[in-house]
Amino acid sequence: MDFAFDARTEELRHRLLAFMDEYVHPAERTAHEQRAALASPWDTPAVVEELKAEARRQGLWNLFLPDSEYGAGLTNLQYAPLAEITGRSPQLAPTALNCAAPDTGNMEVLAQFGDAAQKKQWLEPLLAGEIRSAFAMTEPEVASSDATNIETRIERDGDSYVINGRKWYISGAMNPLCRIFIVMGKTDPNGADIRRQQSMILVPRDAPGLTVTRAMQVYGYEDHYHGGHAEVVFDGVRVPAGNLIGEEGGGFGIAQARLGPGRIHHCMRLIGMAERAIELMCRRAVGRTAFGKPLAQQGVVQEWIADARVAVEQLRLLVLKTAWLMDTVGNKGAHTEIQAIKIATPRTVVDILDKAVQLHGAGGVSQDFPLAELWAAARTLRLADGPDEVHQRSLARREIKQYL
Ligand SMILES: Cc1cc2nc3c(=O)[nH]c(=O)nc-3n(C[C@H](O)[C@H](O)[C@H](O)COP(=O)(O)OP(=O)(O)OC[C@H]3O[C@@H](n4cnc5c(N)ncnc54)[C@H](O)[C@@H]3O)c2cc1C
Repeated sequence: MDFAFDARTEELRHRLLAFMDEYVHPAERTAHEQRAALASPWDTPAVVEELKAEARRQGLWNLFLPDSEYGAGLTNLQYAPLAEITGRSPQLAPTALNCAAPDTGNMEVLAQFGDAAQKKQWLEPLLAGEIRSAFAMTEPEVASSDATNIETRIERDGDSYVINGRKWYISGAMNPLCRIFIVMGKTDPNGADIRRQQSMILVPRDAPGLTVTRAMQVYGYEDHYHGGHAEVVFDGVRVPAGNLIGEEGGGFGIAQARLGPGRIHHCMRLIGMAERAIELMCRRAVGRTAFGKPLAQQGVVQEWIADARVAVEQLRLLVLKTAWLMDTVGNKGAHTEIQAIKIATPRTVVDILDKAVQLHGAGGVSQDFPLAELWAAARTLRLADGPDEVHQRSLARREIKQYL
């Protein structure tokens, strides 16, 4: 078993680390200051567009997309360590590289299931980083971790589909650059097969009847960097029939395909967040003295740092193994591992960030360090893309089945 990265990954890692040091980390403060001066907090600070232009110039662009026709053509195993690096600055780096959720998943859907016209109209500007997108599945009225509950209707009417429903926590939708929504709804609510009732359809932001009603908060944060998490109402929204992605009844299958890569990307970036937390912990511990000695000399602090290091090394190995399985046996064959990392990573990284917050005292919960915001972001990943319990349930059922 060879644990080394291949030559292409090493070369990209090297270039990405240099890009992070030279451009991204210095831009963190600038972005913060520019955002404070914007007319709307949902607008994009100029420095973000500058980062995008520089990343593109350097060929650090669309690294997430395994399809070499559209993206960098990297395997999951090659992309994993790169996504981890971007997780060290999750507000800026993924966007700078055009590798931010939910655009990544949406681009994958369009690349995999979109027709030529849909690719031309929506995939091309997304790949160019000119527009952003959102994925609208979750509904406030129903338990949406079970996608068969979705109530939004997509009804055929002549050459159009008409959409009615209410969604919330739709990431990215507050950003005015978010021009297109992939909406999940039911075309056949009474169909016998509950996994064939749903379809996915493209809905332009400016379609009459689509209203972005409010920004939902995440532990009080609005997540301006990622275009927030909006509540969106679809009231008699009419779009051409050609906006349907794939076929009627194909929505559930597309959702499953979309979530595999999305989940591993989140986990890779979370590991980068944990690395950042460990670095901040160590810097704080050596630089701060209490009761006559640096915090770094307190046994409990050493224990936190050691446990964090051990946990991160374990997680990284599991995530890399999962990436390798996805590349070799496919997303379906890697199902158990994808669920395992989705259960283990957010939970563990939340714990590491919590220790980092504690070590920073009041500063830890403040806006002067990134820790509180990182904690909130990591914590939400125990819900988003499927709550822990849903993954545990299905992983356990597969495990138990062998003994029935
Ligand atoms: C920050 C953030 C961003 C998000 N972005 C998006 C987005 O862009 N697009 C989108 O469509 N959605 C998005 N979501 C929504 C997210 O995917 C849902 O919150 C998630 O799928 C859970 O659905 P729900 O909130 O309806 O919870 P419910 O389905 O009501 O579940 C609530 C709880 O019930 C428990 N539960 C559910 N099923 C089981 C089970 N089988 N066994 C045991 N316990 C169970 C779990 O503890 C679960 O957390 C986002 C959420 C957050 C917080």
